[in-house]
Amino acid sequence: MENKLAINSPYQMDFSALVKVEAPATVANMVCGFDVLGFAVNEPFDKMQIRFKETPGITIINDDEYNLPTDPEKNVAGAALLAMMEELPSNIGFELTIQKQIKPGSGVGSSAASSAGAVAAANRLLHNYFSKEDLVRFAMNGEKLASGVKHADNIAPCIYGGVTLIRSIFPLDIVALTAPPLFVTIVHPQIEVKTSDARSILQQKVLLKDAIRQWGNIAGLVAGLLQADYALIGRSLEDVLIEPVRSILIPGFDQVKQQSKEAGALGGGISGSGPSIFMLSETHATAKKVEELMQQIYDGLGLDHHTYVTTINHSGVRFVDSLITEQTPS
Ligand code: ADP
Repeated sequence: MENKLAINSPYQMDFSALVKVEAPATVANMVCGFDVLGFAVNEPFDKMQIRFKETPGITIINDDEYNLPTDPEKNVAGAALLAMMEELPSNIGFELTIQKQIKPGSGVGSSAASSAGAVAAANRLLHNYFSKEDLVRFAMNGEKLASGVKHADNIAPCIYGGVTLIRSIFPLDIVALTAPPLFVTIVHPQIEVKTSDARSILQQKVLLKDAIRQWGNIAGLVAGLLQADYALIGRSLEDVLIEPVRSILIPGFDQVKQQSKEAGALGGGISGSGPSIFMLSETHATAKKVEELMQQIYDGLGLDHHTYVTTINHSGVRFVDSLITEQTPS
C-alpha cells in the first residue's frame, strides 16, 4: 500500500515508550447542525494508555466496570486501530488499556472517545506519522462498529477539539471553528435510547420552508461562533427538523429546554441521539442554575440522572505523561 510506513523506518518501535491520553466526551448533532456540527467538552473523559507490544496485533485491557469487549474487532477502539494498522507494517503490535469514564450509550460520544483516543495515542507512539484527518478516517471505523454508519460529528471534535463542522464525510472535509467561551450543562437521564430507534423515527423528506429555516440557523450558528456573538448563537440554536420528532423519546425534554432558557441559557438540545440533553450558557452561574433545574425536573419525574457543568474543550485528545524518546529518522 502506498502510504505504508517502511519497516523500521523512519522510526524504530520503542518498546519502552508509553503514551497516556485523556479522550473527551463530545456533543454531536449540535441542535440545527444534525450530522454536521459537534463539539468537545472538558468533562467527562476516558483515560487510555498505549504501548508497542512484541507480537503483532492488538491487545485490549479494560480497566473499568463496563465489560466492553476485549476482542479488537468488537471494541470500537480496536476497530479504529485495525484501520490504522492497514497502513502500517504488519509486524506492529499495540497494547491498549482503556479506563472508561464516559458511560457507553449515554449520547456524549463514549464510542468516539475510545476510537479517537486510541488512534491519537497510537499516532503519538508513531511520532505523529499520520495527520489529524487520517485519524478521523481511522476512528470512523469505530463509529461504524457502534452504530452501523461512519459518521464524524463526535470523532472530529474529539480529535481537533472545539467546535467542528463536518462539511462532508465522503470526501472528508472538516472545518475547525473558533468559538467564544461557553459553559455547557449536560444531563444524562438513566434511560436507554437506541441509536437505531432514534434514527428510524426520522422523516426522510422535509418541507422546503423547514429546510430554509434550518440552513438559516446553521449559518447563523456558525457566524455567531466565529464572531463571538452570543445573541446570534442563542437565536440560531433552533432545530425544526430533528428535535420535534426525537425529543418525544426523552421524558422531561420540553421542560428542561423551556426552563433552561427562562434561567438565561442561550439554548441547547439533544446530545447525539440522546438521551443526554445539553444547554449552552454565557456564564458559569447560569450553567449552574440550569444544572439545578435539570436535577429538579428529573427528581420530580423519579428518573436517575447524572449532570455535568463543563466548558468547551479546545485541545481534543489530551496527552499526559508521554514517555517517548524522540528519535531521529534513520
Ligand atoms: P455513545 O453515543 O455514548 O457513543 P453509542 O451507542 O454510539 O453511544 O456507542 C456505544 C456502543 O458501542 C455500545 O453498544 C457499546 O457496547 C459499543 N462499544 C464497543 N466498544 C466500545 C468502547 N470502547 N467504548 C464505548 N462503546 C463501545
